[in-house]
Amino acid sequence: MNNSPTVLEIDLSSIEHNLNFFRSQLNPKTKILAVVKASGYGSDSVIMAETLEKLEVDYFAVAYADEGIALRSSGISTPILVLHPQLQNLEIICQNNLEPNLYSRRMLSEFLKLAKSLRLNNYPVHIKFNTGLNRLGFDAADIDFVCDNLKEQSLVRVKSIFSHLVASEDEGEKEFSLDQIEKFKSICSSFNSRLGYTPIRHMSNTSGILNYPETHFDMIRVGLGLYGFTNLTEKDSNLKNVLTLKTVISQIHSIKTGESVGYNRGFHAKSNMKTATLPIGHADGFFRSLGNGKTYVSVKGKKSQVIGNVCMDMIMIDVTDIPCKEGDEVIIFNSREEILLMADHSNSISYEILTAWGNRIRRVLK
Ligand SMILES: *Cc1c(COP(=O)(O)O)cnc(C)c1O
Repeated sequence: MNNSPTVLEIDLSSIEHNLNFFRSQLNPKTKILAVVKASGYGSDSVIMAETLEKLEVDYFAVAYADEGIALRSSGISTPILVLHPQLQNLEIICQNNLEPNLYSRRMLSEFLKLAKSLRLNNYPVHIKFNTGLNRLGFDAADIDFVCDNLKEQSLVRVKSIFSHLVASEDEGEKEFSLDQIEKFKSICSSFNSRLGYTPIRHMSNTSGILNYPETHFDMIRVGLGLYGFTNLTEKDSNLKNVLTLKTVISQIHSIKTGESVGYNRGFHAKSNMKTATLPIGHADGFFRSLGNGKTYVSVKGKKSQVIGNVCMDMIMIDVTDIPCKEGDEVIIFNSREEILLMADHSNSISYEILTAWGNRIRRVLK
């Protein structure tokens, strides 16, 4: 049973189109890691991973162990990198054949202890280096520590070393990005020579793939791009929109001049009008900052403003000039332009709009 009629439609053919676009930007030998963390950027991680596995991506990445377990439980067999593993999950990570990012001294030491107690053999792990983001990762100065721990043991094997760009979409930070790339290259060469073998190297996210081809190394990590966005307006046109969010009208009201609509009388009618109530609210990810005329939705192909305050489960829209009735479909967004406008109107970015939608909203295939 599902009580909300609001659905997020996923267009699999757009995912394929977008993946193919990124493939066309790469040397055929460069591997592709698809980032499907945060429920596949708010879509559905299992649907995304099943689609992308058929399209033969080389790797998946998730943020936390449970996201990887969900993929394994639905039969995904492609290697899965866990970007932000937690100490208490390391054992379950191994039980599910997930591959941890060992990003700190504490994480590396604890994993090696566990590997010893589980008698692991060449278990695949990944080492992250911090080249400027100052979020997760070893510093260049830790190379000796890392390699001393990893040499001459066969409990784990380093499958990849990687780093993350700070501002790959920002032309104004080009110098900083180039400096990060140089740092990463130098880390890779001293790491590899001390380790004695050469793991896969990867550095670029979506906008890095397009702006810094020199960061492709052996593998790229594409997330946002698969969903149709690049962070670079001029490059977006190569991609197709994947997600459509739609709902239906619950009730229509005739409002008289001077009456108010919604909590705290956020809206006052300046003339007689018609409003529609929709079953989606801030608990579903429709940000409260989008109320009071900040954005619109589409009814019968016409724009309809959101009026008054966004409620937890509902919003009200102005349908005075739109012939419509209860039960009619309403499109919250069905294009990249509308998602970007919504981001703009809520002072946010595409990433946040994509991942905002709560689990009362059903995910369906287009
Ligand atoms: C989320 C994430 C990505 C994907 O970035 P996009 O800009 O969405 O392509 C890549 N690498 C790391 C480490 C991430 O956390």
